[in-house]
Amino acid sequence: MPEAATYRKVDLHTHSTRSDGHFSPTELVDLAVEQGVSLFALTDHDTLDGIAEAHQRAVEHNLSFINGVELSTQWNGVPLHMVALNFAPDNEELLAIVAENQAIRLDRARRIADLLVKQGLPDLFEEAVALAGESQLGRPHFASLLVEKGFVKDANKAFDRYLGNKRLGQLRDVWPELETVLAKLSDQNMELVLAHPKRYPLTVTKLKRLLNDFKKWGGTGMEIVSGNERPDSVRLLERLSREFDLKASVGSDYHGPFGPWMQVGKFTQIHESEVDLVWRSWE
Ligand code: AMP
Ligand code: MN
Ligand code: MN
Ligand code: MN
Repeated sequence: MPEAATYRKVDLHTHSTRSDGHFSPTELVDLAVEQGVSLFALTDHDTLDGIAEAHQRAVEHNLSFINGVELSTQWNGVPLHMVALNFAPDNEELLAIVAENQAIRLDRARRIADLLVKQGLPDLFEEAVALAGESQLGRPHFASLLVEKGFVKDANKAFDRYLGNKRLGQLRDVWPELETVLAKLSDQNMELVLAHPKRYPLTVTKLKRLLNDFKKWGGTGMEIVSGNERPDSVRLLERLSREFDLKASVGSDYHGPFGPWMQVGKFTQIHESEVDLVWRSWE
């Protein structure tokens, strides 16, 4: 019988309103506790802004809280996400990378808006900036505007037609190189985890090349499940985590109640005994 998605106690990949999530850090922690999570990381895109608030709420609930962030990088021209976990929130190397990525986000948004204009859409830059407010500005803000204005029926269609990596071909080389980011962080006393390895346009051969580089450059882990991952892909990732000696991490990648996301603390079953779990050393 196929193993279904199931609720777990550990969730090391989630988003709040400080990036593109639906709930505030406080609301997200409340929800995680409600769902039975007992070890939790907030991993907003390119920002540590939500950590203090989430941590404070976690302390009130007696929830074990891990500092996290999902960093945007690229490898061979492919945009890649890396989750850093269990760092000191005043780590200067990490703060510098986050600041650089935030500047890139603003610049990239201008260029995204220009590309949309070329396709006959209105200039959405100012509205996207306003919609993001204090959150990290990203493609989901453009997607919301395209839905709200009736150009597409939902966010998925917005990515399909306008915002997906293929559609934004000209904007490929925007993020810092994975090698550079790993070089800056690999001696900084934190876990460096490749996020959702199956979500990139890579064959298994290329994915193995990536994992080889990731390990060689100082990466310490990889997600073996992200939300509603197919069980056969979880099994493959478990095997690869052993083959490349990368610790296994897990998470829902929860963004909110709308869209394709799993609930906090919910993701496809893993074989805990067959991998080296990233959180074992924290217990
Ligand atoms: P960005 O960080 O600006 O590159 O935007 C990437 C984010 O867009 C991802 O973290 C997802 O939250 C969201 N996203 C990507 N693809 C889709 C999709 N097909 N439908 C809805 N949201 C998506
Ligand atoms: Mn996101
Ligand atoms: Mn991601
Ligand atoms: Mn994510």
